[in-house]
Amino acid sequence: MSTIRIDHLGIAVRSIEDALRFYSGQLGMTVAARETVEHENVRVAMLPAGESRLELLEPVNADSAIGKFLDKRGEGLHHVALRVPDLEAAAEKLRTQGARILDEPRRGAGGHLYLFVHPASTGGVLLELIQEEQEHA
Ligand code: ZN
Repeated sequence: MSTIRIDHLGIAVRSIEDALRFYSGQLGMTVAARETVEHENVRVAMLPAGESRLELLEPVNADSAIGKFLDKRGEGLHHVALRVPDLEAAAEKLRTQGARILDEPRRGAGGHLYLFVHPASTGGVLLELIQEEQEHA
């Protein structure tokens, strides 16, 4: 039951609409959900890809982390998101073993609980950890 899976790949773009001309118009992917995550100042479009998804991220304003990323690096892969069975336990284990966790778990797109781990601890990739959906018995 301790399966870790790729939940999604986050791609920073200047315009979701422009990016969808490729991903949707040319490649044929569909948008399953759109959302604005206010506390991240980011607009999100989720495109299912098998058991995973692509997450297109567009800044709402220049203050957003995605806006700063675009200014510095341009469009491209922003983060990799892994789904873990127990986010609190994973965070605690990483913390005690010295990994650089960027924040406490927060609610993001789709109401999922998530946190980010600094690239310095992960081989150079901004890593998002997401809580596995809880089964409601
Ligand atoms: Zn993400």
